[in-house]
Amino acid sequence: MEGEAGERVDLTLLRRHLGAAFLAVILYAAGLPLSAPPAAAAAAPVVPRVSDIRAWTNEIYTRVAIDTGEEVSWQANTLRADPLLGLPPRIFIDIRGAGIRDEILRRPVEVRNGLLRQVRAGRFDRDTVRVVIDLERESTYRVFALPGPFRIIVDIDGEGEIPPLPASPDPVVSPGVAAAPPPEDPEPPAVTSSAPPPAPSAAPAVPHAPPAIPPSVESPRAAASPPSPVRKHRVRVMIDPGHGGKDPGAIGPTGLKEKDVVLAIARKVREKLSRTGEFDVRMTRDEDVFIPLEERTAMANKGRADIFVSLHINASRNRRAEGFSTYVLSRGASNREDLELAARENGVPVRKLQGVKFIIDDMFTGARKNESLRLAKTVNDAVVRHVSSRYRDVQSLGLKQAPFYVLVGARMTAVLVEASFISNAREESRLRDPSCLDGIADGVVEAVRYYGQNGILAHSDF
Ligand SMILES: [Zn+2]
Repeated sequence: MEGEAGERVDLTLLRRHLGAAFLAVILYAAGLPLSAPPAAAAAAPVVPRVSDIRAWTNEIYTRVAIDTGEEVSWQANTLRADPLLGLPPRIFIDIRGAGIRDEILRRPVEVRNGLLRQVRAGRFDRDTVRVVIDLERESTYRVFALPGPFRIIVDIDGEGEIPPLPASPDPVVSPGVAAAPPPEDPEPPAVTSSAPPPAPSAAPAVPHAPPAIPPSVESPRAAASPPSPVRKHRVRVMIDPGHGGKDPGAIGPTGLKEKDVVLAIARKVREKLSRTGEFDVRMTRDEDVFIPLEERTAMANKGRADIFVSLHINASRNRRAEGFSTYVLSRGASNREDLELAARENGVPVRKLQGVKFIIDDMFTGARKNESLRLAKTVNDAVVRHVSSRYRDVQSLGLKQAPFYVLVGARMTAVLVEASFISNAREESRLRDPSCLDGIADGVVEAVRYYGQNGILAHSDF
């Protein structure tokens, strides 16, 4: 089914760029069957549309998500402040061949929190929608796209050594300007989409950083300065029960749903961790609701969590597969099973995992990666030990790495737990037992407590 969906997307792109008549020639020349009936061939092509712009922000961090549904070609760039015109520093994303919902044209997203002024969108020309992010000050940023459904993510880092801009007149942005951004001379492209496929000569997209700003999003002090022994606040933990609502996650042989199991575990973790008085515990969801993956990460970042724990239950076509594993983010996976797991958790086919590789390498390095590896091992060992005290033959699959979207862009120590296999009949029956869920929760709690007391959190003064 996934393959068929992929073909449809490709045909849609071809049709948009080449026209239906030319498409027929291309298909014929390529030796592909022209099986679509005439009625289908005459149907209006699906045109991508900017259907929503979502933003999560605090004074040092912003994530903007631009929903287009269908895959689009896009390009990101920046413009410096223009005091004469009263324009702030801007990041803009040009989206080609897309429409836009009228309400978005009329209603810029106003923020004005010291980092982000507003997000607005307009038709730059007949073929291009331009989304403009008006910043309060120059900041580093990264742009990447996630498929299924297609959305463009902009992460803006306003942290650290970026000097505030000199005072400039506060521009009054009229609705007219907001609705239709004036043509602006783009500088050389900074970040380009990979879809449609880039020209062979295109270098891997790199994050743009204004010249005066350190190129890395990684907090320099995290790598350079020792952690403060005195915390300014209780350790903040964001527990993320995977899936929810329309997304049940994996389903066991007798119908047990991953989304229900992980929510039950998350509530136990919250209750047990809160009881210690040492932690400020939050959850990305506390009910059966669907939350997109990029929003879960944004919630942790916006809430300035120190630790992010995403909870999942594994599944495999091999009904005998069993055991517990804990993952950290990585651009690749050590084996096919881990890659298929990440694809399933990401809600995309394996071949779609390619798109975010560069951003993973770039964003997840240094102290944050090391701390995540340490926490992941601590969590997995503790979970296996606690569950083993209740059951025999509990398998540990150990610390692993794979490209999970929910971990991309997390600004804290972040791990993803795969707490046994719901596809395995014996492990599914254990997951129905509250004692097993208590064991899993006790393991997570013990690891987080140990880590919170002894770990060197990658951004401990956040
Ligand atoms: Zn899952």
